[in-house]
Amino acid sequence: MSKKLLLKDAHIEGIRYLETYRKQGGYTAAEKALKMTPDEILEEVKTSGLRGRGGAGFPTGMKWSFLAKPEGVPRHLVVNADESEPGTFKDRYLMEFLPHLLIEGMLISSYCLGSNVSYIYIRGEYSWIPDILEEAIDEAKAAGFLGKNILGTGFDCEIYVQRGGGAYICGEETALLESLEGKRGNPRLKPPFPAVKGLWERPTVVNNVESIAAIVPIIDITGAEYAKIGVGRSTGTKLISACGNINKPGVYEIDMTITVEEFIYSDEYCGGIPNGKKLKACIPGGSSVPIVPANLLLKTVNGEPRYMNYESLADGGFATGTMMGSGGFIVLDEDQCIVEHTMTLARFYHHESCGQCTPCREGTGWMHKILKKIEKGEGKMEDIDLLWDIQRKIEGNTICPLGDAAAWPVAAAIRHFRDEFEWHVKNPELCLTQNYGLANY
Ligand code: NAD
Ligand code: SF4
Repeated sequence: MSKKLLLKDAHIEGIRYLETYRKQGGYTAAEKALKMTPDEILEEVKTSGLRGRGGAGFPTGMKWSFLAKPEGVPRHLVVNADESEPGTFKDRYLMEFLPHLLIEGMLISSYCLGSNVSYIYIRGEYSWIPDILEEAIDEAKAAGFLGKNILGTGFDCEIYVQRGGGAYICGEETALLESLEGKRGNPRLKPPFPAVKGLWERPTVVNNVESIAAIVPIIDITGAEYAKIGVGRSTGTKLISACGNINKPGVYEIDMTITVEEFIYSDEYCGGIPNGKKLKACIPGGSSVPIVPANLLLKTVNGEPRYMNYESLADGGFATGTMMGSGGFIVLDEDQCIVEHTMTLARFYHHESCGQCTPCREGTGWMHKILKKIEKGEGKMEDIDLLWDIQRKIEGNTICPLGDAAAWPVAAAIRHFRDEFEWHVKNPELCLTQNYGLANY
């Protein structure tokens, strides 16, 4: 059984409220942290080996140490709660059931980073969650954990919740900052990174909800103890939101030492595939990461079991591996059509492209159009090569990672399932989507 650090109290009735959260030891990590110096907290976070839980896996302690500290310029912590990656819903769970864990993590992080005004930028579609967060912020403030002179330390901190308008691109950190400033959410070129020039050109740390929540157990048990959980550079625990063809969809906390097979088939997690169907493929880290066929999902290129961690999932690079990403684990059984699935994703990225760069704006549209043609049974063999060519021209040639995120699913689908694309071209009369009318989607 995986160790639980974040979700250990999630089942307790009333844990959303301060009184119950306090009874379970809530805010003791904050009390401990506020007696430490900011540098001591930073050392704990570095020692923990925590990697950004939004998808990129960038070391959190390193990001914090990059924060510029020019004299007299305010700094900010911004929590990225714009969780919009298809298949990803773990931050929603954390905010809905454990809002004080996030607020406590923000208090410790804000103190460490010197942020007196911190923000939570939340996905617009999570319409019921800002009220939960604001209620928790009010409770924390009334108890002296936010506001002026927190716990008599002289440290002041306010937290504000900002709702997004429903654009996936605003989850990209620089687009998020633009949106938070009241502008259209267009990504900025990096560098400069937000740590140097972020919100209103001030030094800003943007971290995912789960990363900030993880600061609480790190302070609680120490960075060194946190680093002992997991394996290699995949330290601590990770939340996985599991969905698709599984018996038990939901949010699970794993310690990154379990195998993919165990995660899919054990009753503790996904509980296997309904109706005894066979596993066809999986997208383990949200829609932006490459799809992996079952044979490579259960073992690495070296024949080792594949584990649910950053290194093992990436084994083989982009040719055969995938990524841990945001932990949005999507399982596909033997009945799923890879072409239809890829077409649906291509439509999503085309719709969500902000349109600033030509390869992304035009390329995502072309990919969707060609995939629709193939899915409808109207494609030609050369369309498959054209599709391959377009995705290659997008990857690495855009301002933000949405371009890559649109290209990789197409590349991986053709690489691993080319026979299915060819089958659609050779058997137009059997293309089910044509019969169901789904190809107009
Ligand atoms: P990135 O690798 O460019 O950056 C990761 C973080 O490290 C950023 O905060 C960046 O500012 C910081 N960083 C990197 N180098 C730095 C440096 N030299 N100095 C200072 N800071 C530095 O990745 P990204 O664009 O932030 O994120 C891409 C990931 O987002 C993808 O892998 C995808 O999985 C994920 N994603 C998640 C969701 C979701 O809903 N959770 C949605 C879309 C995409
Ligand atoms: Fe906009 Fe796409 Fe360019 Fe990102 S890659 S800036 S989403 S056009």
